[in-house]
Amino acid sequence: MTKSQAPLYDAFARVPLQFERGEGVRLYTFEGEEYLDFAAGIAVNALGHGHPHLVEALKTQAEALWHVSNLYESPQQTKLAGRLCENSFAERVFFTNSGTESLEAAFKTARRWHYDNGNPERIDIITFEGAFHGRSLAAISAGGNSKYMEGFGPKLEGFISLPFGDHDALKAAVGPTTAAILIEPVQGEGGIRPVPHQCLRGLRKLCDEQGILLIYDEVQCGVGRTGRFFAHQWIEGAEPDIMAIAKGIGGGFPVGACLASEEAASAMQPGTHGTTYGGNPLAMAVGNAVLDVVLEGGFLEAVNDKGRFLRQRLAELADTYPDIIELARGDGLLQGMKCRVPNIDVVAAFRDQNLLSVPAGDNVVRIMPPLTVTEEELKEGVAKMDAALSAMQAAQ
Ligand SMILES: *Cc1c(COP(=O)(O)O)cnc(C)c1O
Repeated sequence: MTKSQAPLYDAFARVPLQFERGEGVRLYTFEGEEYLDFAAGIAVNALGHGHPHLVEALKTQAEALWHVSNLYESPQQTKLAGRLCENSFAERVFFTNSGTESLEAAFKTARRWHYDNGNPERIDIITFEGAFHGRSLAAISAGGNSKYMEGFGPKLEGFISLPFGDHDALKAAVGPTTAAILIEPVQGEGGIRPVPHQCLRGLRKLCDEQGILLIYDEVQCGVGRTGRFFAHQWIEGAEPDIMAIAKGIGGGFPVGACLASEEAASAMQPGTHGTTYGGNPLAMAVGNAVLDVVLEGGFLEAVNDKGRFLRQRLAELADTYPDIIELARGDGLLQGMKCRVPNIDVVAAFRDQNLLSVPAGDNVVRIMPPLTVTEEELKEGVAKMDAALSAMQAAQ
């Protein structure tokens, strides 16, 4: 392992690139070199870089009020929560600063609901292999990658990981100690693996029959990424009881939220949970500004159209370079290419063409441009991918 020069934890394998500023889908290094950003901060910069409406919202709020804590009422939180609820299954919202914290709130909401309903033995959260739910001890216990647990002590009690798509294993695992089932409607870090629609409907039915709660992690696939406000909204009859979101809702400002039905949130009474920064006015101003754009008429339809266009181009690349790309999959602007060569080589080749992408599990390269990307910019990105793959093929 090489040691980095910076006095920082070596916890990240950082690419030696330093960006000074960004504009739309473009990033610029301190030397002025331009990159097309199809990584979008790992599906965070939903509206790209320097979006004027977000910049304005943050500036205006910064001049008015930064922070007062959750000791007082928050009209900014009420407004954003109201809009999240109006546009989803949810009736209650708890704001956080990250995806991980949103999942923590979800776990506590689920367990406490059973506790308050006379079933304190129901603590198990069933999760799936390949899933990613964050990096806290509970989140790595819930995650489907045991590598993240290594050296950090025992997995927390009450987290059961099952193979992805194994119905028999699921039936066998559900029992009198089950509190909730947790799933990403589209696995992000796991390699852009969408859960089949009938499976999510099946999970909803199973949860109803067994009196257990269904939790979705839409931290990556939510807030317009798949062309619907939330990914599960593509599916009839598959609404969750609790849902964690983050990433896109802040457009680059740290915001997360745990959404819940009135019933599921009913046990979270004063004193059960808290946060210092969660729902801070700056974060709420930006979250509301993101929704101004994402919920505007036609925005999500455009994400869909652009997603279809991108998906087709990626499928063509897979056809053209079958020795490098096995297949393309994904919804909206959450697309992945499963590789036949190491995915990190493809990410590096794209970067050599000044295009940013993100590796994922299952040997996938994630292509997640800002939702504001234009078709022209998508074409530009695809041309860069084509050039990179062509160079890779010539070198094979
Ligand atoms: C990124 C991510 C998380 C963790 O979010 P953080 O903001 O990094 O804590 C959780 N779940 C999913 C699906 C994610 O993509």
